[in-house]
Amino acid sequence: MTHILALDQGTTSSRAILFNAQGSAVHRAQREFKQIFPQPGWVEHDALEIWQTQLQVIKQVLADTSPKQAIAAIAITNQRETTVLWDRKTGEPLANAIVWQDRRTVEHCDALRQQGHQALIQEKTGLVLDAYFSGTKLAWLLDNIPGARARAERGELAFGTIDSWLVWNLTKGQAHITDPSNASRTLLFNLHTLAWDDELLALLKIPRALLPEVVPSSGVVAHTEPSLFGRAIPIGSLIGDQQAATFGQACFEPGMAKNTYGTGCFMLLNTGHAPVVSQNKLLTTVGWQRLEASAQAPATTYCLEASVFMGGATIQWLRDGLNIIASASEVEALAASVPDVADTYLVPAFTGLGAPIWDGNARGTLIGMTRGTTKAHIARAALEAIALQVADVFAAMAKDSGIALAELRVDGGASNNNLLMQLQADFLGVPVVRPKVTETTALGAAYLAGLAVGLWSSTKDIATQWSVDRRFEPSMAPADREAKMARWHQALERAKGWAN
Ligand code: ADP
Repeated sequence: MTHILALDQGTTSSRAILFNAQGSAVHRAQREFKQIFPQPGWVEHDALEIWQTQLQVIKQVLADTSPKQAIAAIAITNQRETTVLWDRKTGEPLANAIVWQDRRTVEHCDALRQQGHQALIQEKTGLVLDAYFSGTKLAWLLDNIPGARARAERGELAFGTIDSWLVWNLTKGQAHITDPSNASRTLLFNLHTLAWDDELLALLKIPRALLPEVVPSSGVVAHTEPSLFGRAIPIGSLIGDQQAATFGQACFEPGMAKNTYGTGCFMLLNTGHAPVVSQNKLLTTVGWQRLEASAQAPATTYCLEASVFMGGATIQWLRDGLNIIASASEVEALAASVPDVADTYLVPAFTGLGAPIWDGNARGTLIGMTRGTTKAHIARAALEAIALQVADVFAAMAKDSGIALAELRVDGGASNNNLLMQLQADFLGVPVVRPKVTETTALGAAYLAGLAVGLWSSTKDIATQWSVDRRFEPSMAPADREAKMARWHQALERAKGWAN
């Protein structure tokens, strides 16, 4: 048994990737599925379509797999917070899944905040009261589907994030489980006791009978139902996508951080075995839970997390909104055609600002233009904006954790942009390191499953597999960096509160 089949169930597609014992992807399949927008601000997925596309890509990869590539375990990583409610008897979802991006429960969150519950929520869950998380989405389903609440109380229904939903289907209803990395995104899970919390359940009016059992992120937690793939395959890991990427970047020690440059940017910092409560509006979350060498009970690793809403999406806007580039990869040459931004700043607050500012009313601002400003300056300002936002969350993490971060590991589509990575190193003042394998989400889940079944013996084993593609050293003088950040913060001030 030499391979791990990683399932990467993302927001727009379901993927299956077969990894060998060297951590290299040898087969992959991917299928997109429908994005459903029933009303402004609402985003749904058909949970059955998620399962079917996931099953199809598994079968596709299995069909390509030779007997020599025997699968030791399945690994599961998933889009987080997306909420599914289904019937325990029939396995049918009661409604479409409510996706993490969905904003329909903003008012419920506002009401809870006005009632003064934010402090309790942050203390217990490490989260801010926001419609992003599963708790109020589940409450919405119970309140809006006729009869659902009574049925939930009678134990007839099951709630799950996508990890739970996939395992339920892979085991044909034998296992209803989740892991702490996913549970810690629900507003229902206590970070300190590592259990569902009665006070939080009461606050959100969630019947306990709905909830999955919480199992470690790494371990043989279930087996696939034999009729699906001809044999029972162990399920060796469950983990949310960003936490998986952190593991896939081999950020095993406290003080190690990764940033993913996708549509948005997601930075996670390993803070070790104790949760750090943020003073700077960052999230505290479980990274993973696993049995470490010679330990009796699984150990929990916590992370600080920050997201920047407009990362690579800023470049999409240059392409689709302004039409100044034809593809994302063109931005690098255009931005490099000018030596600097000529004091022009783009604040891409198109959907407000996330961590560490959290201003939903901030809006996009382009400031500092003169008659000499060209599209090249704007392209460069867009790249700088991504790096400057990331520098701000990096600083907030350092402050919260008290750790001087030595480097930043990077992945995601926009991390291929060398100019962006150099700017990032300059604005951080620490090296930016891009690994050879940037499919870190699936890889991290594969590593956790492989550790569970003995394909890798320890994280030391894995850390030696992680290898550098390119390292970007900071080349900006500290005084220049400070001046740059100060100017950026002035630009940020102009963007705040605009929609008020
Ligand atoms: P996601 O997983 O969120 O869909 P990806 O990791 O696939 O994101 O990255 C895609 C994002 O990266 C897009 O927003 C795109 O604009 C941006 N991107 C891709 N290539 C580049 C590049 N060379 N320079 C800057 N941004 C890029």
